[in-house]
Amino acid sequence: MKMSASSAADIGAAAASKLRLDAGIGNEPITDLWAFIRDQGVDLAFHGFGEEGPDGTYRYDGRHALIVVNSDRKPIARQRFTAAHELGHHVLHRKQGQPMRAADADVNAPTGGSRQESEAHAFAAYLLAPDAAMRAAFPGVEPADITVEIVVDLAHRFGVAVATTIYRLHNSGRIRAVDRDRLNDQRKGKVERLRTQKGYDVEEIHGAPLPPGFVTDIAALYDRGMVGIDRAAELLRTDVDTARAKLGHRPEAADFSEDEFLREIDAEFGESAGE
Ligand SMILES: [Zn+2]
Repeated sequence: MKMSASSAADIGAAAASKLRLDAGIGNEPITDLWAFIRDQGVDLAFHGFGEEGPDGTYRYDGRHALIVVNSDRKPIARQRFTAAHELGHHVLHRKQGQPMRAADADVNAPTGGSRQESEAHAFAAYLLAPDAAMRAAFPGVEPADITVEIVVDLAHRFGVAVATTIYRLHNSGRIRAVDRDRLNDQRKGKVERLRTQKGYDVEEIHGAPLPPGFVTDIAALYDRGMVGIDRAAELLRTDVDTARAKLGHRPEAADFSEDEFLREIDAEFGESAGE
C-alpha cells in the first residue's frame, strides 16, 4: 500500500544522490545553494510575493530554465527548500525542448500533491540533507540522548528547517520513530529561541555565528536602503554575492511590482513558456 509513496521517495533520492555525485560534493552541506543551482544552468531569481504568497515556481521554455523563489517566505531555510524542490522539477520532470511550468503554493504540503510533487519534495530533502550525513550526525550519541539543541545546530549546518532535519534523521535510520516523536514534541516553542540565541535567526548557513540579532539588523538596514550591498557584505563578513543571497533578494526587487516582474519573465522567455 505504500508502494507509490516510497517509490516517489526513491526516485527523488536517487536523482539527488546522482546530482551530488556529479557535482563532487559528497555528503557535505550545500552552503551556497544559489550558486549550486546556477551551476546547473538554471536561472534563479527572488521576488517578494508576500509572506502568505506561493513558495516558488519553475519555468522552462524549451531552452532556458528559471526558478523564482518567494523572498518574503522566512526563514531562509524555507527558501532553500523551495529552490531545491524547483530544481527537482528541473532534474526530474523537464523533457528536452518541451516547455513546462510548475507553481508551488506550499512546498511543505506534498501529501496533497501529485506524484511529481512527491518526487520533487523527496529530491529537495535528500539533496539538502543526504542520508549518509544524517546517519553520521552526532557520533557516539545514543538516539535517546539527542536533544533539540544539537538538532538545531545540525539543521543550521545543512541549511534546512528543524522539522525537516528531524524527519530526515528518522528517514535515514539515524533515529527511531519514538525519538522523532519525542523531538517533535520537545522542539515546540523552543526552536526560535535557540536559533536567536545562537545567531541563526537569519544567518542560516554554517560558519562562525554572528552575534544574535546582528544579521537581522543588517537585513533591516539593507531592506530600508540605509546600507548598500557592499557595506552589508562587509558587515556580514562575506562577499557581495553571498551577502545578496543571504539577504534573500536582489536590491532591484524592491522597485518591481509583481505584474512588472511577471511581464519581464514573459518578455524574456516568451508567452509560450506558461501555456
Ligand atoms: Zn513542485
